[in-house]
Amino acid sequence: MSTNQRKSSTWNHAPELPLQSMPYWYWPPRPWAVLRWLFENFLQVSDRALFLVYSFVIAFWLMPFVPAEAALSWDWATLVLLRNMVAVLMVVGGLHIWFYGIDVQGNVLRFDARPITGRKNALFLFGYQTWDNMFHTLVYGVAIASGFEIAIRWAYANGWTMPLSFSESPVWFVLLFPLLTLLQGIHFYLIHRLIHWPPLYRHVHSVHHRNVNVGPWSGLSMHPVEHLFYFSSLLNFFVLPAHPVYMMFLLHWQMLGAPTGHSGYEAVFARNKARILIGGFFHQLHHRYYECNYGSPEFPLDKWFGTYHDGTEEMTAVIRDRKRRMHAK
Ligand SMILES: [Zn+2]
Ligand SMILES: [Zn+2]
Repeated sequence: MSTNQRKSSTWNHAPELPLQSMPYWYWPPRPWAVLRWLFENFLQVSDRALFLVYSFVIAFWLMPFVPAEAALSWDWATLVLLRNMVAVLMVVGGLHIWFYGIDVQGNVLRFDARPITGRKNALFLFGYQTWDNMFHTLVYGVAIASGFEIAIRWAYANGWTMPLSFSESPVWFVLLFPLLTLLQGIHFYLIHRLIHWPPLYRHVHSVHHRNVNVGPWSGLSMHPVEHLFYFSSLLNFFVLPAHPVYMMFLLHWQMLGAPTGHSGYEAVFARNKARILIGGFFHQLHHRYYECNYGSPEFPLDKWFGTYHDGTEEMTAVIRDRKRRMHAK
């Protein structure tokens, strides 16, 4: 990835366009490119690598899954909620302060240079985008994510899942991390298309789309029904043989990954270098043009179903034309 600012008439900065698909989907297959990409994204400093490390810390040290969780109790359930609240406040609040509060980075590697906060707008709860976003994130988002975590810890402790250790299947143990991000891409595409169905859009998903230009607090700014859909991906642990560390990874991939992916920047840039890759340009295009990029860049469902926006101006024209036709019906 380059740290050069790439300006265009539409973007303050954009990755190299057209957006390329992830190496998993190269044809003919290029296994070395996949391995290189996995190494660069999971084992060097990126948001997903940090989620991976943090998940190991929780599952093996800070808050392991224990048999005592077979009985639901406020003691441990409150701790789960508290731990998630602190993580979100630190990561999302930290990114917001870095990018928009003390504004360390300015517009370097920022996709859209228009302001996210600022003027009062009656569209938003309490009148301001950030306040609206913080409310939906902290009151509904963290609570619902924690609810899923509590339910799954309870299920693990009661033996209703299929736990798996490293020694039982080392290859599966390693492969399951990237595989989960792929599966989550499919799940997200499906629920996201569902909530773009006009009745659900009006009542549910429009809350998230109040954010035309996005910041870290936009990531989890959703109607609670959308949170329920979004985190329902965690139910896959009822059928997937997996160690609890995967549950923690998927939770953070979504609970902290949505905010990092909505931060509006390609990377945290400090001392002349991109330090932490967080880019979410693929989804930024969805916020600007709506009828495109419903899924995630991990899994090319948008390409297969003709809703892919590769970031180029030609594609913007195609998407705009489709939108006009949809609304003309
Ligand atoms: Zn949407
Ligand atoms: Zn979004």
